[in-house]
Amino acid sequence: MIDAPVIFWFRQDLRLADNPGLTAAAQQGAVIPVYILDDEQPGTWRMGSASRWWLHRSLHQLEQQLQGRLLFFAGKAEEILQRLTRAVGAEKVFWNRCYEPWRIERDRRIKETLNQTGIGVQSFNASLLWEPWEVLKGDATPYKVFTPYYRKGCLGRTVPRSPLEQAPALHFYSTTNISDGCPLAALALLPSQPWHKKLEQHWQPGEKGAHQRLNDFIAGGLDGYRQGRDFPALEQTSRLSPHLHFGEISPHQIRQTLLTAAATENISAADLDHFFSELAWREFSYYQLYHNTHLPELPLRAEFQRFPWLKDEEGLRSWQGGLTGYPLVDAGMRELWQTGFMHNRVRMVVGSFLVKNLMLPWQQGESWFWDCLVDADLASNAASWQWVAGCGADAAPYFRIFNPVTQGQKFDPDGAYIRRYLPELAQLPTRYLHAPWTASADMLEQANVRLGVDYPLPIVDLKTSRKRALAAYQMVRQGH
Ligand code: FAD
Repeated sequence: MIDAPVIFWFRQDLRLADNPGLTAAAQQGAVIPVYILDDEQPGTWRMGSASRWWLHRSLHQLEQQLQGRLLFFAGKAEEILQRLTRAVGAEKVFWNRCYEPWRIERDRRIKETLNQTGIGVQSFNASLLWEPWEVLKGDATPYKVFTPYYRKGCLGRTVPRSPLEQAPALHFYSTTNISDGCPLAALALLPSQPWHKKLEQHWQPGEKGAHQRLNDFIAGGLDGYRQGRDFPALEQTSRLSPHLHFGEISPHQIRQTLLTAAATENISAADLDHFFSELAWREFSYYQLYHNTHLPELPLRAEFQRFPWLKDEEGLRSWQGGLTGYPLVDAGMRELWQTGFMHNRVRMVVGSFLVKNLMLPWQQGESWFWDCLVDADLASNAASWQWVAGCGADAAPYFRIFNPVTQGQKFDPDGAYIRRYLPELAQLPTRYLHAPWTASADMLEQANVRLGVDYPLPIVDLKTSRKRALAAYQMVRQGH
C-alpha cells in the first residue's frame, strides 16, 4: 500500500465489475474516481444528443454506486488531470483504453505530459476481446475481410480473458480540498427541451440495467436468435449495444455469462455462435477504425471519393422524419426518433435507401444516426455506414440495393413493426401495408388513409432511382 492516492479516470467503462483499471487502482491504495467531459474540443466527435442523455443517466447510477465519491469535471482532460494530480499529490493515474483516433492521440499526449512530471500512467483493456494491434495477417498487415479476421485472426489466436470475478473493494481518498470539480448536472448533458422523456420508457442505463438486459435476453431472445434477429417486430436481439458502448458491461462478461448459460440450458450452438459473431462485428469495427483513422469521414475504397452524390435537403429531411412514403423505411426512422434505437435489419434498409435510392452521401446518414442513437459509436457507426454504402473494407457490394417493399414483406410479414411506428397505416390490410400506393381508392378510404395527406406518396421511384445509382456506380468503377 502507498499513501499517495491513485486517480482512476472513468471513460467508456462505466461499471465497477470486470473493470481492470479500477481493480488495479484499488490494489494500490486509496482511489480518487473521476469523470471528465472533454468532447467539446476541436477535432473530436462531439457526442450526440441521445448519447448525452444516456451518459447523464449512466453517470448518475455510477455516482450512486460510488457513494457520491465520483468527481466530475468538464474541459480539457490534459489540464484537469495535471491540476488534480498536483492538488492531491497523486503519483499514479490509471484508465482503461479507448480506441477513437482522437482519444488515442489525446491519451498519448496526456501520458507523456504526466510522465514528465514524474506521474506514472497505466492503461488497461476493458472493452475489447482482442486488441486491434495484436490481430494481424501472416505478413503483419491488418485483415480486410471479416471472416478470416474473426476465425483465423481472433479465434485462431487466443481465447479472450475471463472477466474479473469481483468488483474491487474501494477505499476512497478524501477530496474535500478539490475545488474545481462540479456536480453532474453542471455537465449539462440533458437537453433543455424535455424530448428525452420518451427515451426513459425504453432504457435503463447503468451497470444494473445492462445485466438486467443480458438476463432478459438469455431468458427470452437467445433461443432462436440466429433466425429471429432479422425480424424487427420480435424481441429477439439483445439491445445491449448502448450498454456495451458506455462500458456498463464488458464483452468478456457477456461471453462468459452466455457460455455458462449454454452449459446448463438448452441453447443451440448455432444461436450462440451467431451471437458471438455479431459481437465480433463490433470488434471488427474497432479494428477497422484503429487501422484506418479516417474511417468516420472518408471511404475506405478511394474510388468512392469520386462518387457523384446528390444534394437534396428536402429528400434528407423526409428520410430523417420518416416521411419517404416507404413504410419500412419510415417505421425505422420513427423508431429511431422515438426510442433512440433502430433494429439492425432496418438500419441496413434505411441506409441503403438514403445512399442508393436518394443517392445522398453516407456521411449524412452517419451524422443523423450519431445524433439520434443511444448506441451511437464512432467505430460501429462509421464501419456500418461504409458497409451499407459499399465503400468499406468488407462491405456489401454497391450493386446490392435493398428493396424496402420486399424487405418489409420478408422481415415484417404481418406488418406488426410497421403498424407499431406508423399508426396512420394501422388499418391497411397487410397485403398493401408495405406499398400503400398499390391499394385501391376504396381500400384506402376504408383504412382511413389519404395518401399525400395522412401519409406521403413515395418521394422517389424505386426502379428509376436504382438504375440511376447503378449507372453512377459504373461510372466510378470505370474511373470517370
Ligand atoms: P444484437 O444482435 O443483440 O448483437 C449483440 C451485439 O453485437 C450488439 O449489441 C453490438 O454491440 C454488436 N453488433 C451486432 N451487430 C453489429 C454490427 N453490424 N456492427 C457492429 N456491432 C454489431 N451499432 C452500434 O453499436 N453503434 C452504432 O452507432 C451503430 N450504427 C449502425 C449504423 C448502421 C447504418 C448499421 C447498418 C448498423 C449500425 N450498428 C451500430 C450495428 C448494429 O445495428 C447494432 O449494433 C445492433 O442493431 C444493436 O442491437 P442489439 O444490441 O440488439 O444487437
